[in-house]
Amino acid sequence: MASTAHPDAQEGTASGVLARMSARGHEQVVFASDPASGYRAIVAIHSTRIGPALGGTRMWAYATEEAALTDALRLSEGMTYKAAAAGVPFGGGKSVVIADPKTADRPAVFRAHGRAVEGLGGRYITSVDIGTSPDDMRYVREETTHVGGLPTTVGDPSPATARGVQRAIEASLHHVRGSADLAGRTIAIQGLGHVGYHLARMLHDAGARLIASDTNDERAARVAKEFGAQIVAPESIHTAKADVFAPCAFGAGLSPATIPALRCEVVAGAANNQLLSDADGALLEKRSIAYAPDFIANAGGLIYLCQEVAGWTAERVARTLEGIFDTTVAVFDAASKRGIPSSEAAVQITRERLNAAPRLATGRPR
Ligand code: NAD
Repeated sequence: MASTAHPDAQEGTASGVLARMSARGHEQVVFASDPASGYRAIVAIHSTRIGPALGGTRMWAYATEEAALTDALRLSEGMTYKAAAAGVPFGGGKSVVIADPKTADRPAVFRAHGRAVEGLGGRYITSVDIGTSPDDMRYVREETTHVGGLPTTVGDPSPATARGVQRAIEASLHHVRGSADLAGRTIAIQGLGHVGYHLARMLHDAGARLIASDTNDERAARVAKEFGAQIVAPESIHTAKADVFAPCAFGAGLSPATIPALRCEVVAGAANNQLLSDADGALLEKRSIAYAPDFIANAGGLIYLCQEVAGWTAERVARTLEGIFDTTVAVFDAASKRGIPSSEAAVQITRERLNAAPRLATGRPR
């Protein structure tokens, strides 16, 4: 029988959303609104296969609802892989609040968000992300217990993220040079913010030589003074001659425009979504540059959050963080065996691990 499309069945309508959900495997997308506070949000749950969906709340003045939905779908799927690869008992989710972070009525907006999260009954646990802070999570907490990243609990995850990146760098060096030793290696760090600063400190302590850059001169000067880093212009940091290039500033920095100019053997850093497109993984491979996939290298913050949201001990957090070394090595090994770029191997082996995991009955916290 020829299918007869309902007149509403077009891109941007509910049936378009369902098609996009099933294409990427999303379980649930919730549109939430509270006209009194101006709160408008989308909560996307990609997977609760191995545990409740965990993922922060992003607040952004999205130009369109379509752009917000795209972000929520993409980011929640990424969280599923990040959690599964890191070995934490969570699935992937994400919220996007469509509002200008500079003008929003934060207490009212985040209380409304708390009610939306509460309505999911524990299938989704939220935390901070771009545009939101631990203080905002206090308002979410007034309405639901399914929230982490509060100012009163475990604090800044960035040092843990930096430690995980260090382990990914060591694993990558082990892969290309047969030794994970950082002493005497040159590492170029792009971005010296929350993660970049701590990464610089850790690499310096391990005996590495640093080249670094930040668009904020004070941050660059501090790292030069404290860790002896050579500071270069932000436009040229990716061209620095180094063993490792560590992007710790922004996403989509690895592209056909920048990859040909790299002068390193390894790329491993904290930034999310470092590749502009999937094809850039192959471009790095062609240049024989070992790429530690971002969602493997930067999972330290998520692992750290398990103290608060999964009751892990500090010892278990530390052990799992150290495991980023082995996970990174496993990705390079799978990439070599399968003859594919490491970026692709990371997604493949994580999907395989997910598919082999027993499905939880409810997706509720255990
Ligand atoms: P941040 O905002 O504290 O630091 C980013 C730094 O990059 C800032 O100092 C900024 O001035 C600098 N910067 C911006 N543009 C630059 C440019 N063109 N060249 C050089 N420097 C530039 O952010 P963060 O928390 O350190 O996170 C860094 C990256 O890691 C982000 O992509 C973030 O999404 C990702 N990440 C962070 C965590 C975490 O625990 N903080 C966890 C996972 C992933």
